[in-house]
Amino acid sequence: MRTLMVELGERSYPIYIGSGLLNDLGSYLQKHGITTKNSLLLVTDDNIAPLYLEKTLHTLQQSGYRVVTSIVNAGEKAKSLSVFENVMTAAIEGGLDRNSAVLALGGGVVGDLAGFVAASYMRGIRFVQIPTTILAHDSSVGGKVAVNHPLAKNMIGAFHQPVMVLYDVDTLQTLPMREVKAGYSEMIKHGLIWDEAFAEWCLNQAESLLALNREDLAYGLERGCAIKAAVVSEDERENGLRAILNLGHTIGHAIEAVGGYGEFLHGEAISIGMMGSALLAVKRGRDQSIYTRTKQLFGRFGLPTSLPKHLDTEALIHALLHDKKFKDNKIVFVLPVAIGKVDIVTDITLDEVREVIEQLKE
Ligand code: NAD
Ligand code: MG
Repeated sequence: MRTLMVELGERSYPIYIGSGLLNDLGSYLQKHGITTKNSLLLVTDDNIAPLYLEKTLHTLQQSGYRVVTSIVNAGEKAKSLSVFENVMTAAIEGGLDRNSAVLALGGGVVGDLAGFVAASYMRGIRFVQIPTTILAHDSSVGGKVAVNHPLAKNMIGAFHQPVMVLYDVDTLQTLPMREVKAGYSEMIKHGLIWDEAFAEWCLNQAESLLALNREDLAYGLERGCAIKAAVVSEDERENGLRAILNLGHTIGHAIEAVGGYGEFLHGEAISIGMMGSALLAVKRGRDQSIYTRTKQLFGRFGLPTSLPKHLDTEALIHALLHDKKFKDNKIVFVLPVAIGKVDIVTDITLDEVREVIEQLKE
């Protein structure tokens, strides 16, 4: 079992990563002051429920906990105010009080939704994350919780740090392969922004990681979380450094939008976005190997490295303009300096982005 502390002063919390941890959920809760006197709200989705709900409830009940369950429909649509209200209703009807805790059993969607419920219920109760996707290593660090507004993603939310994160790598074995790859995209991003050796390790272990080898998976999640934690600890509220976590996201968000939020998974869109950032960096005179190595890395994981030709360049630019503020026709971009290091460039022009988008289609 691996333990990683996310250092945030009095809001610090551990992430436990390993095999079979879910069986001991009760003792982990006790260890963190959530006793059987405290009632629990367990939030999950209807893909995860048939796989892990019974087992989770069984361990909790064996440990003597009273649990109220709320199962939401799987998918991004669960991050809405109406579903938020339904979960709140379950919490109120279930008699949760100030000393209760909300448990999120699921991926980033369940984590963001349940976390926002925990942040708002009676002005904030304790929150525990039990991530079941690889991508959720990203959402388990940083305390951002939110639901979407029809006009904008993650628009309604809070910062609410969990009491602990319990990452049982056994639960990841049932992930669809497409979700596995998409999850690795954010893990690779953490290597690209911070740690060349980790990016290299990802490349070398690709086969084993894609086969969900528990040891490698646990190390990859730990290192990915540690890098995000290092960034977030320095800048909890996104005043500066935290922006480097957005590598690939400017173009990536535009791709998701133009794809109608259905064609591409987030991880797929940002892998193309990171290819775009690498291309931009090379255009700005940085080493060509940034591009070739980034491409090799995403290629090894079966992630997309180019844009499908049917995506209209002007539609992408339009989406990008909607997402980001241009000033004097210039845009802020996170660009790689080398593998494992990025900086923030404030004078990228629309024409440069247009050119890169065209090149990504080749
Ligand atoms: P998700 O929660 O929708 O999970 C992906 C799919 O896998 C879903 O269909 C889900 O039902 C299924 N699934 C989950 N675990 C499974 C398992 N163990 N076995 C089989 N199927 C399983 O999506 P995600 O990719 O985990 O997260 C994406 C969300 O996370 C987005 O809403 C994004 O905004 C959010 N996010 C938040 C942060 C943050 O800092 N809070 C960071 C990154 C992403
Ligand atoms: Mg992301």
